[in-house]
Amino acid sequence: MICLGIEGTAHTISVGIVDKVDEKCKILSHISRTYKPEGGGIHPREAANHHAKHIPSIIEESIEKANIDVKEIDMIGFSIGPGLGPCLRTAATSARTLALLLKKPIVGVNHCIAHLEIGRALTKCNDPVLLYVSGGNTQVIAFMRGRYRVFGETLDIGIGNCLDKFGREIGLSFPAGPKIEKLAKKGNKYISLPYSVKGMDVSFSGILTACIHLLKKERIEDICYSLQETCFSMLAEVTERAMAHTEKEEVLLSGGVACNERLKEIIKKMAQERNAKFFSPPNELLVDNGVMIAWTALLMYASGIEHKIEETNIKQNYRTDEVEIKWRN
Ligand code: AMP
Ligand code: MG
Repeated sequence: MICLGIEGTAHTISVGIVDKVDEKCKILSHISRTYKPEGGGIHPREAANHHAKHIPSIIEESIEKANIDVKEIDMIGFSIGPGLGPCLRTAATSARTLALLLKKPIVGVNHCIAHLEIGRALTKCNDPVLLYVSGGNTQVIAFMRGRYRVFGETLDIGIGNCLDKFGREIGLSFPAGPKIEKLAKKGNKYISLPYSVKGMDVSFSGILTACIHLLKKERIEDICYSLQETCFSMLAEVTERAMAHTEKEEVLLSGGVACNERLKEIIKKMAQERNAKFFSPPNELLVDNGVMIAWTALLMYASGIEHKIEETNIKQNYRTDEVEIKWRN
């Protein structure tokens, strides 16, 4: 069964074509284009315009690259939420158009759950605690009593957004995460920052403000180093507690910020210390991608889920735990 999946929750528009063969995920093609704001943060309308401009050509290219005939596509999947309204609407409109044109079923996928499902499909983990760290989202998610439940999350901005905002203050273009990672490698002095873990949740905006204040008196490299160490330790703490609580022995790291080598190292070490296993998909599938949407849509469809066109309205604030998970026991 072949699914064409469209991802478009934020800065990236991506098409993935996936074949489900013997319950395995076979990636036929994957093409993405990322909107890069000229200055400032992501402007939702401009990002949506970017997506609208690129989507027709990447759909064509991905079908070509998959080496299939358009008639071989059995279904369409798309990211229905959470995300930025104009971006979601653009991806959804393309998905509806394709489904109607090809007369094929359509399934709207929760973006956060797709990060988890593609991790399960492409790594050897089966029932992990997911630490999902991206620009807009920061959540600790695990499967329990029939749902993917959120055990901890950010109370304000996503970790990636925190890094990007700090980057902007020091003149780094979007995405600043990788550039901060490089600067942090040259830092060697830990500067104490507000460590904000509240119960199982985390908060980053106070740390961001503290870092901005430090710019007058400390080296940028040391601030970047301290920022990473503080935020990543907080994430490790809540993830570890979720693992202890759920008694799960696998941790999966995903989302764009999971490209960070230092974060991988910290989470891996935490896992090792509790005899748990660490997993992370390859970097190109950690970031937002159409492959994870196509794969999750295939799982959902096989479990009997199909959306009528009227049911494909986007859900900007779609919660991870709202989704009924029929494809797992
Ligand atoms: P996503 O929203 O999942 O597509 O991920 C994008 C976010 O990941 C942006 O906020 C980037 O700054 C961040 N990011 C990408 N690479 C890295 C890295 N190496 N270290 C930290 N953050 C990163
Ligand atoms: Mg994402």
